[in-house]
Amino acid sequence: MPDIPSPRGKLTQDRDLSSLTWLRVGGVADYFFQPADEDDLCQFMRDLPSDIAVFPMGVGSNLIVRDGGLRAVVVRLGRGFNQIAIDGRHVRVGAAALDAHVARKSAEAGLDLTFLRTIPGSIGGAVRMNAGCYGSYVKDHFIEASVVTRQGERITLGADDMGFAYRQSALPPEWIITQALFEAETGDPAALAERIATQLAKRDDTQPTKELSAGST
Ligand SMILES: Cc1cc2nc3c(=O)[nH]c(=O)nc-3n(C[C@H](O)[C@H](O)[C@H](O)COP(=O)(O)OP(=O)(O)OC[C@H]3O[C@@H](n4cnc5c(N)ncnc54)[C@H](O)[C@@H]3O)c2cc1C
Repeated sequence: MPDIPSPRGKLTQDRDLSSLTWLRVGGVADYFFQPADEDDLCQFMRDLPSDIAVFPMGVGSNLIVRDGGLRAVVVRLGRGFNQIAIDGRHVRVGAAALDAHVARKSAEAGLDLTFLRTIPGSIGGAVRMNAGCYGSYVKDHFIEASVVTRQGERITLGADDMGFAYRQSALPPEWIITQALFEAETGDPAALAERIATQLAKRDDTQPTKELSAGST
C-alpha cells in the first residue's frame, strides 16, 4: 500500500464517485480527501508521494468518471472552504461555495454576479473551467485565486497566470483552487433578484432542467 499521509480532514479509501457526479456515473477513487482547512491541504500535498496522482473535484457537474474509477487521490473541498466575504465591489469566495449561492448573496449585497446563478457548479470548478452564461464569464470578474500546488505550496494567481479561454483555463490539473476574488458591477438588489428570476425562468423554458442533462441541450 502506498505511503499515504494522515491528514486532520477526512480521508476515505475506495470511495464510489457515482453519487458525487451530476450524471450519477463513475467508479471508485483510490482515495477521497476532504481537507479540514488550507493548512491541512498544504501539509497533505507536501507529504503525499510524488508518484500518486491528485484530482481536484468540485460538485461534479462537468465530470464524467469512467466505470473503472480513478487511480488517484480525489480532493474535494467542503465546509472549511465555502465562505463568502463582500467588501465594496469585491467578493472573496471559498472554492467549495456553490455558484448559485454566490450569485444570490452578491445580488443581495447589490453586486452583479448574476451570471453564476444558473451554473450548477462550485467556485473552484467555475474558475478552472472559466464558466460563463448570458455573455459573462469568470474571466470578466476574476482578480485572483489562492491555489495549492501539487508540492503543497500556497500561491496566488492573477488573471494573466490563469490562461483563461472559452470554458477552460491553463491551471495545471493537480493544482487546487481554494479561494477566488471577484470584482462585480453594482446594481439595485431588487433588480438583480429580478434578473436572476428571469434567467432561471429562461433556462426552465429552454432546457430540461427537471431531468439529468449535461446542459446546453
Ligand atoms: C445542467 C448543466 C448546465 C450547465 N450550464 C453551464 C453554463 O451555463 N455555463 C458553464 O460554463 N458551464 C455549465 N455547465 C458545466 C459545469 O456546471 C461547469 O463547468 C462548472 O463550472 C463545473 O463546476 P464543478 O464544481 O461541478 O466542477 P467539476 O465538474 O467537479 O470539475 C470540473 C473541472 O474543474 C476542476 N476543479 C473543480 N474544482 C476545482 C478546484 N477547487 N481546484 C482546481 N480544479 C478544480 C476539476 O478537476 C475538473 O477539471 C453545466 C453543467 C450542467 C450539468
